[in-house]
Amino acid sequence: MAAPSQPEAAEDELQNMIKTEPEEEDSHDLPIPGHVPTKRDPVVPLVSPVSGQQPLAWSPDHRLSVCTASSLSIMEMLCDVRSNKQHLMLHRTSIPVPPEPCKMRVGPSAELAQAMDKFSSHLDFTLRQAFLTDRVINPSVGTHKGIKYASWSPLGCDAVGRCLLACLTLENRLSIHHSKKHLEWNLLVDLTQKYGELLKERGYARKDNKPTEANLLNFEELQRRFRMQTPLKMEWSSTYTFKQVQADNTCVDVEMVLLAVLMENGDLVLWKFLLPFTNGKDVLFFDLIESGVTQPSDLAWWEYKSEDRQMSGLIIGSEEGPLKIMPVHLKNVKGYFTLRHPVILWKECDNIAVENIQCIPLMHPVHKASCSLIVASRGCYIFWCLLVISSAGMNVHNSHITGLHSLSVVSLTVDRQSVALYSCSTDGWIKKLTPMFQGSSLTFKQEDVPQIENLTGRRIHGIAVSPNAAYVALLSTQGLVGKHPPINRTYQVHFVTLKATDAAVELLLKSPSQNLYKMTDLLDLVRWHVLKSSCIPPWLQQALDQKLQESDVPYLWRFKLFLLRVLYQTVQPSRGNDTWKPSPRESQIAEENKGEAVVTVESEHAKVERERQRAELQASILAAEAHLLRENMKKVLGVVYLNTSIGQNTSIPTCGLMEYLSRDGNDRAAEVLIGHIKNKMNKQTFSERCALCQAVLPFTDHKDTTCENGHLWPRCVLSYQACQTLTFRRCLLLDSIARLPEPEDPEWIKKILQAPCMLCDSPLIEN
Ligand SMILES: [Zn+2]
Ligand SMILES: [Zn+2]
Repeated sequence: MAAPSQPEAAEDELQNMIKTEPEEEDSHDLPIPGHVPTKRDPVVPLVSPVSGQQPLAWSPDHRLSVCTASSLSIMEMLCDVRSNKQHLMLHRTSIPVPPEPCKMRVGPSAELAQAMDKFSSHLDFTLRQAFLTDRVINPSVGTHKGIKYASWSPLGCDAVGRCLLACLTLENRLSIHHSKKHLEWNLLVDLTQKYGELLKERGYARKDNKPTEANLLNFEELQRRFRMQTPLKMEWSSTYTFKQVQADNTCVDVEMVLLAVLMENGDLVLWKFLLPFTNGKDVLFFDLIESGVTQPSDLAWWEYKSEDRQMSGLIIGSEEGPLKIMPVHLKNVKGYFTLRHPVILWKECDNIAVENIQCIPLMHPVHKASCSLIVASRGCYIFWCLLVISSAGMNVHNSHITGLHSLSVVSLTVDRQSVALYSCSTDGWIKKLTPMFQGSSLTFKQEDVPQIENLTGRRIHGIAVSPNAAYVALLSTQGLVGKHPPINRTYQVHFVTLKATDAAVELLLKSPSQNLYKMTDLLDLVRWHVLKSSCIPPWLQQALDQKLQESDVPYLWRFKLFLLRVLYQTVQPSRGNDTWKPSPRESQIAEENKGEAVVTVESEHAKVERERQRAELQASILAAEAHLLRENMKKVLGVVYLNTSIGQNTSIPTCGLMEYLSRDGNDRAAEVLIGHIKNKMNKQTFSERCALCQAVLPFTDHKDTTCENGHLWPRCVLSYQACQTLTFRRCLLLDSIARLPEPEDPEWIKKILQAPCMLCDSPLIEN
């Protein structure tokens, strides 16, 4: 096949540095040395066809969303430590497309009815045609049902510290959802409706607030009022901390996230969400930016951070080709600077639409400064642009990578950990691009990702890399049968590994976040390996032990506990399908095993060995749990000490915790802490009482407590209080229970209760 001609690129010295054809030796490289991408089970079938331009999105909390014609389908990846099944553990939920149509407000209904009447029978053929074929203005032509786009907020935006989900339907309803309970979705706010109300109040004026003179009987005005509120795409910013002045003139730090919505007329509408965001009514209109882009096609945040300097903007691409950054102005954010003018990244109107915009922060090896790499797909080319900011100003280098794909690029997805890009065309060819600096210029190392078995010949609708690039999810349907498209199409999601176990372990051991839950996708690779080989690889054991010797931190203990729990599953007697079978009588067994005596003796040995291993593992698990518990108890007691005055009763079972900790005589730190608290408590002992009979609740175990009348209460994993209510929270892996904060709890107890599960780092969710 002939290489596609190269589009006109900007004249700069970098032009010659960019390879236009993949080099011979590159095409044989594996994406990661020593790692062959492997397909994981299960293959997930979708109930309805795929919809939208970029249908796959992976959230930072390990949920994959797929836009379909009937709903937004969501798969949550879990590292289940209670199962010995080797396949991926995916919990499926969905947000259905609302059955009732979404109606936009554009003006008085009588005037609108008059306008509809006028234009549907207008004598000017071109105008009538324009009206009749516009699905937004004239929904009677038949709207498409389905999801247009979905976008996940950063981690930590909802009440339990997970992501918010923005969902846009093909009928242009933009709504925000969250899942308060496990496997349940709730609508928080309908932003299309909210913006419609706001526009009505403003009389559908532009940003300058000048009242409009034309009414709906003017076709251009009718079109303008629809297009100014028809969302095309939306993207969340990262979280920002700003100073808010209180009523008593003190300043408090408040966290927020912004949602930018790109409208069809090129307007950018920004909504502000104060965190944690729990009530849909609290969403605030933040700003309106008129970008002036006539045929917008895609949107992404440009976020730049250098030491204590921050800047941001919105990157907008157009159907006609150009690409630019619009400044965003934030007040009261520390170290925040605003761009003075829009930055043009590509100005030629060559009618190659800009799609899949991504922004990646990089360190420039020569300037020793942070810079931004912006990439986007344009047809079958990849456009890139490097923004270098120095004291001299901003430098823009741009170019195209050509010859990568012969068909249109459907997805461009980023592995932010190791800074690599994956591009994919409809024919399923995936290329890995790694940006590399040669002196001060930038090149891309190009590699072919080997074709994955059973996926060759299928048509790919999109790919998405998991948060830590352990997996790539592929959305596919049948390709051509002979020369014809198939009669019936089915759609499937496949999961393919991008990393080998050792690479995953390396990342896990040096993780800067020190949070196992954030590493779920990498952790799953390790879980798979342990289940497959029925052992924790010695090199992993060694590396972990050495790390633990260097720094005895809870994160590493949690990792250790996780490995032990997974391994424990491999020595569990199989709880397979034959549990219903009556166990054969001994004589029968003897009969059957005549002549197989040796085997029986061996398996008897194996059984004993397995039992020994099981007991050993169980002991190690308990030891790891006890270690984590003790560390957390000390932390809780430290907080109690700091926040209470002499002889004050807190609802935390302080005396019980001290007694529990003093059972180990070798813990000097605990001894000192206990001494301090005992002084403060002034010989008083406040005991917990049973809510049903007022009897004293003893502290015998960290998991639960029973009063003398036999009332059993579970203990909270975070505060060790007895959970004496009907509602409580459980962590995602179901290994612990936590109390819900009560309104009368002091702030410091509420803060203790905000923490994730102490044993596995996963969020605690109301059941
Ligand atoms: Zn009781
Ligand atoms: Zn847990």
